[in-house]
Amino acid sequence: MHLSTAQLLEIVSAFPDSTLVFTEDGYCIAHLGDQETHSFSCSRLLTGRFVADVFCEEKAKWFMQQIRMSIFDQNLRVSEYSISPMDMRLPCSESSKLEREEWFEARILPLQSFIDGQRGVVWAARNINERYKLEQQLRFLSETDALTGAFNRRRFFESLANHFQTYHRHYLDCSLIMIDIDHFKAINDEHGHPCGDRILKQLYEVIKSQLRDVDLCSRMGGEEFAILLPHTKVNDAFVSAERIRKAVEQQLFSYQHGCLHVTVSIGVSSIESSDISRDSVLQRADDALYQAKKSGRNRSCQHRHLMKV
Ligand code: GH3
Ligand code: MG
Ligand code: MG
Repeated sequence: MHLSTAQLLEIVSAFPDSTLVFTEDGYCIAHLGDQETHSFSCSRLLTGRFVADVFCEEKAKWFMQQIRMSIFDQNLRVSEYSISPMDMRLPCSESSKLEREEWFEARILPLQSFIDGQRGVVWAARNINERYKLEQQLRFLSETDALTGAFNRRRFFESLANHFQTYHRHYLDCSLIMIDIDHFKAINDEHGHPCGDRILKQLYEVIKSQLRDVDLCSRMGGEEFAILLPHTKVNDAFVSAERIRKAVEQQLFSYQHGCLHVTVSIGVSSIESSDISRDSVLQRADDALYQAKKSGRNRSCQHRHLMKV
């Protein structure tokens, strides 16, 4: 018993995902399936057009790369991508169903037969928006401190491990700043735990306001924050630490019953070529922080300074 071409087409058309056929020059010759009508799919927009006619330059380039790499490798490629209104070259009326960024997973398979003398691929696209958003939320929850919104210890150690590897492979500097609130126990005792919590949240905002986008600030626990500063030498990290310390000193922290001033002590270190493990750089920042506490609090200490003492 055999299925006819018409029957095969009917079966494939019942598939929920969009299945597109592209020639190697980026022309979409056909689409099949796409019965999942509640989510956006661009298969109808693409059919009978070149990707460059539907998408802006960058997105079209990405589509072309995927098509060509799949043909070159002669292998199945699985890629995740997003399409947002900004990616569209077509007039709004045709792409109006796309109101925000949508995420897709494409399974791209090279065709063994030629289409009009050209090689081609089958591009099966599944809308993974819900899954993607859920993954984002889970990632956010797994690496964020619930009270302050800073990254958590886990994310800090992950990032430190990456920078540690990068340092030893490419000698890219990376420094570390450890911050601890001075006499925080006394603040809790005097003004209550909710006041302490509000100070922790505000402190994170003050610290963040002094950092670059590439710097990563984590709450390590209690009233202690750590910052990773990529591409930063220890002297420059010390300048940043002092900037943070002064900003905290000048900030008026508000709580339920008024305002108060808070100070922090800071230890600074950086990854060094002799470091065998990431613990050494942490230990040096801790030692410097201890020195800052010991020498009167509300100050920053750099590990290199300790060596000179
Ligand atoms: P030092 O200047 O030496 O750092 O003294 P300190 O009082 O800041 O340090 P200590 O380690 O003695 O006390 C830290 C306090 O931080 C004790 C603990 O109750 C408080 N703490 C830890 N986590 C939280 C939190 O999430 N919220 C609040 N409000 N307090 C916290
Ligand atoms: Mg502490
Ligand atoms: Mg403290």
